[in-house]
Amino acid sequence: MSKKILPMDGEHLAQIAAKYGTPFHIYSEQAIREQARRLNAAFSWAPAFKEYFAVKALPNPYIIKILREEGCGADCSSLAELVLAEKVGMSGDEICFTANDMPASEFVKARELGAVINLDDITHLSFLKEAAGLPDLISFRYNPGEIPGGGNEIIGTPSEAKYGLTYDQLILGIIQCISMGITRFGLHTMIVSNERSLENLLNTAEMMFSLAASIKEMFAIDVEFINLGGGIGIPYLPEQEEVDLEAYGQGVQNLYRRLLLPADLKNVKICMESGRMMTGPYGWLVSTVLHKKDTYKQFIGLDSSMADLMRPALYGAYHHISVVGKEDAPCDHKYDVTGSLCENNDKFAIDRMLPEIKRGDLLVIHDTGAHGYAMGFNYNGKLRSQELLLKADGTVKQIRRAETLDDYFATLDFSEL
Ligand SMILES: *Cc1c(COP(=O)(O)O)cnc(C)c1O
Repeated sequence: MSKKILPMDGEHLAQIAAKYGTPFHIYSEQAIREQARRLNAAFSWAPAFKEYFAVKALPNPYIIKILREEGCGADCSSLAELVLAEKVGMSGDEICFTANDMPASEFVKARELGAVINLDDITHLSFLKEAAGLPDLISFRYNPGEIPGGGNEIIGTPSEAKYGLTYDQLILGIIQCISMGITRFGLHTMIVSNERSLENLLNTAEMMFSLAASIKEMFAIDVEFINLGGGIGIPYLPEQEEVDLEAYGQGVQNLYRRLLLPADLKNVKICMESGRMMTGPYGWLVSTVLHKKDTYKQFIGLDSSMADLMRPALYGAYHHISVVGKEDAPCDHKYDVTGSLCENNDKFAIDRMLPEIKRGDLLVIHDTGAHGYAMGFNYNGKLRSQELLLKADGTVKQIRRAETLDDYFATLDFSEL
């Protein structure tokens, strides 16, 4: 069972809320660093290992900088994400550009930064050539199509997914690359999301290692890296277990020995581009209860909304909720916990058993460190919250201010009315 802990004790949290105002996401620097160290240790056996943090999960430069200090790179899928990586000083193979349906300008920026380019389709080779010129290393994103037990709920069956090249296209892509003078290759895939089954995670590694071995056999090419993608799950529910990274690393090592070494592939670098697992459990959304409403159900209205955390509304996802100061009180009240959007699915929890809640209580929504703030939007003119960092030394720093009405109206010109 995973334990749902607060970022700090309730009293301290109330002080932070009084100082900065709510709502806010708060992230724990220490916990993020420790997670990066666990992952790197689990793969320390590999000839080279690099986690490219999926920037979209938590696109804040302070977080990317912390992860860079722990040896991580950045996985970027848009111009803004490339610029964020650049702003923290990254370049070259510290950045992986994994885009799909991208405009030419994004390829130009990726090439300017010297990023590793991971192509999503065979037609993108000529598109890239025209837009930004060809690099000497190309990575291809593989989509295996129909595979037994492949894919999972969030990402769906690979054959239905818009991502990646088929096997035949990938082989053809390599032939085209060779004829265009490209000599260095990488392989990538991402076929699961929020996956906690070690078996499924290892199946991905097995599939990719077999692919690398057959490319070696066909073309005598040593792929330089295999990127296992992101998608490692986290325990959103208290009764769920986290993925045992050490066992995962060990399992990948066994496959490496079984499939790559006999194919005479000795120096293949292992890469990953996890987002959720790196920061998800180490972020919390802290809100104040504005209203209590009693109709056919009991509603708790917060000062945050799905503009700050969309996962429950979007996927029906569970996020654990704690009421500050009532951690040990019995959960004997059933509530819908809502935001303020004019959207009936703007609910953080439905029929959730919680301690009795009063107006003014502080509620903490857990596991918001990935795909939380990042998915925010401005529907209804709702403004996104601030982000705070609980630093390793125990102090708190604001790493993004809350949006203001001026931000919201910045794209309008009222003077022409
Ligand atoms: C979203 C995404 C990731 C990160 O996924 P997580 O579930 O956050 O680990 C990695 N790579 C690609 C290409 C993605 O689209």
